[in-house]
Amino acid sequence: MAELLIPSAQQLIDGEWAAARDAGELRVADPATGQTVQTVACAGRADVDDAVQAARRAFPGWAATSASERGRLLRRWSELIGEHVEDLARFEARDVGKPLSGGRMNIFITQGIIDYFAGAADKLTGVTLPTRTPDYLGYTLQEPYGVCAVIIPWNVPAVLTAANVAPALAAGNTVVLKPSEVAPLAPFALAELARRAGFPPGVLNVLAGVGADAGAALTSHPGVNHISFVGSTTTGRAIMRAAADNLVPVKLELGGKSPNVLFADADLDVAIPAIVGSITENAGQNCYAGSRLLVEASIRDEVVERVAESMRAVRIGPWDADLDMGPLVNEAQYRRVLGFLESAPAEGARLVTGGGPERRADGGWFVQPSLFDGVDPRSRLSREEVFGPVLAVQEFSGARQAVEMMNDTDFGLLACIWTSDVSRALRLAQEVRSGQVSVNQFADAGVIGFPFNMQRDSGFSRGGGYAAMREYTQEKAVAVRLLDRSSVE
Ligand code: NAD
Repeated sequence: MAELLIPSAQQLIDGEWAAARDAGELRVADPATGQTVQTVACAGRADVDDAVQAARRAFPGWAATSASERGRLLRRWSELIGEHVEDLARFEARDVGKPLSGGRMNIFITQGIIDYFAGAADKLTGVTLPTRTPDYLGYTLQEPYGVCAVIIPWNVPAVLTAANVAPALAAGNTVVLKPSEVAPLAPFALAELARRAGFPPGVLNVLAGVGADAGAALTSHPGVNHISFVGSTTTGRAIMRAAADNLVPVKLELGGKSPNVLFADADLDVAIPAIVGSITENAGQNCYAGSRLLVEASIRDEVVERVAESMRAVRIGPWDADLDMGPLVNEAQYRRVLGFLESAPAEGARLVTGGGPERRADGGWFVQPSLFDGVDPRSRLSREEVFGPVLAVQEFSGARQAVEMMNDTDFGLLACIWTSDVSRALRLAQEVRSGQVSVNQFADAGVIGFPFNMQRDSGFSRGGGYAAMREYTQEKAVAVRLLDRSSVE
């Protein structure tokens, strides 16, 4: 099998690889070394316009393509991904800095998402509605919007490409995808495989570019009919403002400050590795990262000690060493995380382990997994998304206080409850203000099509699962009066 390569300094519009109109380039660096590993085109406004026009031209044909055929092409795309798992895993790992096995896992998740929507494509239906008499018929149609703009961040580029592009295409939309300028390689590689799978030109267009330039041009383009944005809460607000001018619907998946809530009756042997994994996987650069640990007072000392021990054992290295944790993605992210490590003690938190850069002979943006105890609920570390391997511990007494502390955040992405008391877990799941809840595990392992829901400053979306198909459709209601009785008399 020939290695999957991305053409240098190019982008994929209307089924063709080409340079940006002004020949601009983005350098993509390995976060472990800072060395450039690839260049891609840096799209500007004219490129965005080209991509939107290509998607507009492709839309009528794609929307008219049978849903089964759309599903078949998605399935073929997934098969090609299966043939290039290692190539894709390298793109995903090298781009973000995560260990190769983490990149590989992301590609399997990517493939699973595309498979899911391949199967769902021809199962999207409307409903028939009750009528007052048999003289009427009422029903709904689920119709694609048209051109969907999809803008994603750098932390899990392959997975987020699949999670947004696959349901949009399955539902009959065409797509202009703008991956992050920081990590565009896996999205471009996936787009090349979609091209090989046989998606018609213009159905999926991919261009990278700087957010304030290409991203802003895309969200304000009058040819765009729907915007999906995954990224920071701050940028999400800018996206909504841009969408208001053209009155375009927006799907937002933003930041998080997710709590792990640990009761004294929890199985600590299961919980502690999962809690440490939830803040060190991808170096803590996950929207749902378990960045707050709320622990019942009676087990606090033991838990803090065990979590610290487990964090100290995390093996750190570049993506190709394939250890437990890689560097942060770039210097900006590194400086941001160091800022939190410096401000936390000043705001009263006690540093237990880590707390600074992980210095290595070969450079790179490495920081230590860091644990702070006694974190003030009003401090930055407690309230703001760090997006790094930094865990804030707070103590609670009793379930009532646990609920209050879980909800003491502007975000509402994921809450994880660790207890052997099932009734308590289910009651907490009712009371927490969060789009997702998991019990005795971190996140949604083992559940197929789990909705990736958000609330409050984490956004509003029904990503993941069947509901995502509906996100990418608009509903039309049809009412019919059957006038001609004589036809059956
Ligand atoms: P970001 O908001 O800086 O950028 C995200 C994307 O938006 C990039 O492609 C960027 O180029 C683009 N962009 C930036 N400014 C823009 C503008 N004015 N108009 C249009 N596009 C613009 O986020 P980031 O630093 O790349 O990623 C980290 C953030 O993503 C974190 O907050 C994390 O929680 C969030 N995230 C959320 C989810 C989720 O599903 N909720 C998943 C992954 C990451």
